[in-house]
Amino acid sequence: MSETNTAPAETRFVGKCRRCKTFHKVEGVLVKDFHCKNKAMCGTHQADLWKGKWVVTVECTCIDRTTNRRTLVQLAKVFAAFESTHECGARCINATGPSCECACRGKNHGRHS
Ligand SMILES: [Zn+2]
Ligand SMILES: [Zn+2]
Ligand SMILES: [Zn+2]
Repeated sequence: MSETNTAPAETRFVGKCRRCKTFHKVEGVLVKDFHCKNKAMCGTHQADLWKGKWVVTVECTCIDRTTNRRTLVQLAKVFAAFESTHECGARCINATGPSCECACRGKNHGRHS
């Protein structure tokens, strides 16, 4: 049995609202659109391929005064920055940026549990 290559991987998108600094995250399996290779779904959120990277845009609860609408926050996909044996800890779990630099390789990164 070799299902490991085809098993859908959970991904996590993280980011902070530039206006109110609220942390946002979206978790789920990235399901690519058959018709448009620049689009995918991550749970109920739409993901877009932007400059070679997947991003998810979410609405914050705060209002952007220039548009009078909820501020849009662009979330970046968590990735392992480099091969590391650095022990995973609170810094990784509470991270707000996408780049993971410890042994979990993004598994716990930005979980905020
Ligand atoms: Zn906000
Ligand atoms: Zn970690
Ligand atoms: Zn991390």
